[in-house]
Amino acid sequence: MRESYPLLRVRCDRIVSNGRALIKECGARGVGLWAVSKGMSGHPEIARAFERAGFETIADSRLDNIRAMRGAGVALKYALIRIPMRSELEELAELCDYTLISDLGTLAELKALCERAGRSVGAVIMFDVGDLREGFWFRGAREAAREAARCDGDFLRIAGVGANFACASGVLPSAENFEALRGCGAALEEELGRPLEIWSGGGTCSLSRMREGLMPARINNLRIGEGLLLGYDTAFDRELEGLARDTMRLEAELVEARRKPTLPVGETGRDAFGNLPVFEDRGERRRGILALGKQDVNISGLTPLDEGVRIITASSDHLLVDIEERPDLDVGCVLSFRPDYTAMLSASTSPYVTKLFEG
Ligand SMILES: *Cc1c(COP(=O)(O)O)cnc(C)c1O
Repeated sequence: MRESYPLLRVRCDRIVSNGRALIKECGARGVGLWAVSKGMSGHPEIARAFERAGFETIADSRLDNIRAMRGAGVALKYALIRIPMRSELEELAELCDYTLISDLGTLAELKALCERAGRSVGAVIMFDVGDLREGFWFRGAREAAREAARCDGDFLRIAGVGANFACASGVLPSAENFEALRGCGAALEEELGRPLEIWSGGGTCSLSRMREGLMPARINNLRIGEGLLLGYDTAFDRELEGLARDTMRLEAELVEARRKPTLPVGETGRDAFGNLPVFEDRGERRRGILALGKQDVNISGLTPLDEGVRIITASSDHLLVDIEERPDLDVGCVLSFRPDYTAMLSASTSPYVTKLFEG
């Protein structure tokens, strides 16, 4: 039987070994990890791979994903890593062991809810140390710390502090902003009158800093998605040594293969997405059309894995490739691409892309 394309083929065994390697490496430095599943839409097979690797906590940005992973029987702890909506606090208390949080009203409401439901949730208070996404601003952290500490209780615990890097503004972790986070955490510890359980120092880019020896010993938690799933660090634009990068590929089928001119014939207006395309005359070349488009995946995040294949352009449902150097490729052939984080995310979300988990 033929597979159903487009297909995202995921090698779970390689994600498991990435997980084991990271747990060992970070554990040796006293750093615990939350395995971040949102890049693969919290697919239960990914949760199972995380469980096999030995992670204790899975972190996701969506309660829907957490519900699905729990529902599939993956009995680990779960952390919500998008600061919650007021409208989802009840579900949060039911589904999560931890949540990131950066709003005092939300914190107070969650506390009340946890007490009523008898549910225990750990809150990680987020501080913005420069990247300008979520968090109390690091300057003047004392007041936020004092207010947050007031919400600490038996059911809603103030579990820790956290910061984000390289998300909204591309600000990389550094000695300075790690120090800013340290100050925020110290203020929170003083207000609470006890040490914090969690000092969460960011995602994959902080792992790179840890390897360089530039992450303070205080940081005892990282939330790792990209490094684990793709063995890559986009913020620093580098491969992560010791981790597998070939964890998944996107496969699509050729539906046309033909020699055509490289210059279109006729007056040109805008393309399907309103852009004005530019062309270079390279004479006649062999072109292929793949049954894959922008509805399936973020095309700009794909790298062809087959020798002599180059992406030309794409519309909603068609991906055009140059296959001049590959006369052997014809209709019915399947080509493979390596997804970056954005392509993985979009392919995993698209209902049109079949997901196949191996290993
Ligand atoms: C997505 C996310 C992460 C994981 O980041 P990676 O770069 O994929 O490791 C960590 N923390 C938060 C809050 C996130 O939203």
